Amino acid sequence: MDYFQKLTKQVATFLGITQFVATALAIAGVLIAAYVYSLPLYIVALIGLAISSAVAYLSGRLASTYVTEPVLFLWKAILHVSPSSHGASAPDLDKSRVGKELVTSLALQVYQLASSETPTPQSARHTAAAEHNRTDAIMQNFPLPVFVMDKKQNIVYANTAALHYIDQPKQDVINHNMYSVLDLSFPSDHTFDAWLTDSRDNKATASESWERVRLMLGDQKTKKQFDMAAYYNKDNPENAETIITFFDKTVRYNKDDDAVSFIALAVHELRTPLTVLRGYIEVFEEELEGKLDPELEGFMHKMQSSAQQLTAFVSNILNVARVEENQLFLQLHEENWEKILRSILNDMALRAQVHDKTIEFSIQPDLPTVALDRVSIYEVVGNLIDNAIKYSDKSSQIIVKSYLRDDGMVETTVQDFGIGVPSSIIGNLFEKFYRNHRSRAQVGGTGLGLYLSKAIVNAHGGQIWVQSKEGEGSTFGFTLAPYAQLADELKTTDNKDIRRTAHGWIKNHSFYQR
Ligand code: ADP
Repeated sequence: MDYFQKLTKQVATFLGITQFVATALAIAGVLIAAYVYSLPLYIVALIGLAISSAVAYLSGRLASTYVTEPVLFLWKAILHVSPSSHGASAPDLDKSRVGKELVTSLALQVYQLASSETPTPQSARHTAAAEHNRTDAIMQNFPLPVFVMDKKQNIVYANTAALHYIDQPKQDVINHNMYSVLDLSFPSDHTFDAWLTDSRDNKATASESWERVRLMLGDQKTKKQFDMAAYYNKDNPENAETIITFFDKTVRYNKDDDAVSFIALAVHELRTPLTVLRGYIEVFEEELEGKLDPELEGFMHKMQSSAQQLTAFVSNILNVARVEENQLFLQLHEENWEKILRSILNDMALRAQVHDKTIEFSIQPDLPTVALDRVSIYEVVGNLIDNAIKYSDKSSQIIVKSYLRDDGMVETTVQDFGIGVPSSIIGNLFEKFYRNHRSRAQVGGTGLGLYLSKAIVNAHGGQIWVQSKEGEGSTFGFTLAPYAQLADELKTTDNKDIRRTAHGWIKNHSFYQR
């Protein structure tokens, strides 16, 4: 403040002196004109006016230069530190005449402010760029593959681990659509794409993870398997709508697949002796009917039921191996569903009886004929009834119903009143190897029955579903298409039946043309 008062004083003195000089010069001019040259009064007045105008103009110019000098010095100091002025030289503060102390002090403060990190737009941009570089360096060295997609699902970023993982050069990945770069398949229809569509419709941000995702590399031979996590951000300003990362489990999941293949190979060898055993059990049963006491008859039934269970297990394993290889071929024929279902339930009745369960069956009369592959549908119903028996605890009632739905599909449900499934895991039941850990210890199984059933039902063009409440029981249901609905398909071929392949992997985006 002292410096400021000093400046005010200096300016006041300067203005005072210039005013005094101007007035003195005007008076001197008037006196000289009047007394030395004895000019008439009006000439004297004109001379006085001219002198005072000239002096006022000169003193004004002088005063403005003088008074604005501190501003000039400060302006130069600011320009000197401003990044946009590209190296303007610093003012020589020693040459400052007006308010030197104030100017020096203010200029120093300007330099100080500039050297600390003041976020001018330019420096903010520099900071953002530095931040971006740092993030990029971290992401590039991040050991997991990371892909970032924009709203059109074009890949806008892929780190080094990602490019390495999919074995593709950067130019074939960046700015390419993710569906053309990442050939992903999922073990259920809860695919990345399904999740993204749902997130776009309902959420601002969302995250999700998947297990056992498959990626086929460009050579169409190498298969990677991993767990995957994704993050969605609706209006991300960086154009990063979705981020995905992979947790490679190729070795582990391949081992599981190999185990299935190996078991399938071993199990295949069980088929012949098993058929022989079942044949003889049937012969015994026929020959000894009515001749055995009830206890021995009970044993006979248990033998028969176990042989049946073993047969179902063998074909489940073999079929899962086929599904994995896309080698499970189905032939759909026109069938009377009531007849087929009754015959399957008839076969299962003994098994239910051995476990003290009763199957109640009701079917809507006059159902349309359906298109099905007998052997594989047998397996689906067998798996559902088998589960109802296994997981129904002490309750003995199993209800099977079949009816026509409003949409024209034939639906069949298997209901039990057993242990049920907690809602948190209900979505996983149809996944390969999935078993509820709570029932795992008490009840034997492979976690393949529902997975296989789903693949088979889907290959028939139907859907499989479950409704369950823990402690109260479960209802599993599946639909089959009426034959008439699929018959159009036949017209386009010369075949008498409809051929389908059951596969367990759902493509991420089946509509995208690669
Ligand atoms: P598995 O029965 O051989 O374990 P599944 O694929 O048939 O394999 O079934 C997967 C899991 O689903 C089972 O382990 C069990 O936890 C659960 N589950 C299936 N059916 C039922 C049911 N009716 N009631 C309760 N839980 C069931």
